[in-house]
Amino acid sequence: MVTDNSVAESSHWQVELRRAIRRPEQLLKLLDLKAEQLGWLSDDGGDFPLRVPLPFVARMRSGDPTDPLLRQVLCDRREWHGTAGYSTDPLAESSANPCPGLLHKYHGRVLLLATHSCAVHCRYCFRRHFPQDTTPPGAHWEAALTYITEHTEISEVIISGGDPLILRDSLLETLFSALEVIPHLRGLRLHTRLPVVIPARITDTLLERLAKSPLRATMVVHINHAQEIDATLAQALRRVGQLGIGLLNQSVLLRGINDSAKTLAELSETLHYEAGILPYYLHLPDRVAGTAHFHVSAAEGRQLIAQLRAILPGYLVPRLVREEAGAAAKTVIAS
Ligand code: SF4
Repeated sequence: MVTDNSVAESSHWQVELRRAIRRPEQLLKLLDLKAEQLGWLSDDGGDFPLRVPLPFVARMRSGDPTDPLLRQVLCDRREWHGTAGYSTDPLAESSANPCPGLLHKYHGRVLLLATHSCAVHCRYCFRRHFPQDTTPPGAHWEAALTYITEHTEISEVIISGGDPLILRDSLLETLFSALEVIPHLRGLRLHTRLPVVIPARITDTLLERLAKSPLRATMVVHINHAQEIDATLAQALRRVGQLGIGLLNQSVLLRGINDSAKTLAELSETLHYEAGILPYYLHLPDRVAGTAHFHVSAAEGRQLIAQLRAILPGYLVPRLVREEAGAAAKTVIAS
């Protein structure tokens, strides 16, 4: 997997990772904004500080404090307000680990948390309070691989994180190869937002590796707003589909960002017509401490789905779902 071409490709996206913006004043300057225009701004992201790569910043509107991409990444004072019913682990994921870095919540599939790191820090993230893991990526994989090998009812491994595509191709190769020799596995799914914030992460080397896997490979990307899809990202994602790799999108329904039928319809249409992706899930936000200001109720979500049904073909209407601690599957609220 490591060729001269892959070294050049890697250096490109890794440079963007290193150049990511980490200070609010730096981001405001780039966007020609003053702190006084953002009454909700907080300089302090706590253990989850600002982090946003420049290719994503380039899709934000200059001079607009309400920009929907900016609102997803800039720390907000309301994150520090305690809200009843919101906790640091609302899905009780810390109790579903058969071994470190592996979640076995649903029948037939497991979630392998390949890394705790992400290229972007999304303020609404339900894993934002997970303890920082200082062990190197890969340190827990052996126990996880043994568990998967011993549980023959598992047919699909979902590689998540953090964001698995933050790992070097050589580490991913190690993981893919180890999974591919487990005889009862049939599917390999990657959950990632990294290509959305750094489209250069979708390299030919990565796609060719996934396309030739004996496991059916699927990439589930995370896009919340049509403005996140520019021509570069659309082209990169179309290439995923052209190589026969499954491609789906999941979004989070977020107050002030995508909580209107018009915005959601535009997202579905842009996903499909520009990037060749079908909308899959629209998640109600989890009740994570520090994210109550993003909350949209199930009743509002149902109304939005009904409005989408009236203006979009059925295949462009995502399923509105909610995750519930201990449930055997996601709860479908409307579809
Ligand atoms: S990329 Fe995903 S896991 Fe990482 S901060 Fe954003 S929502 Fe959370």
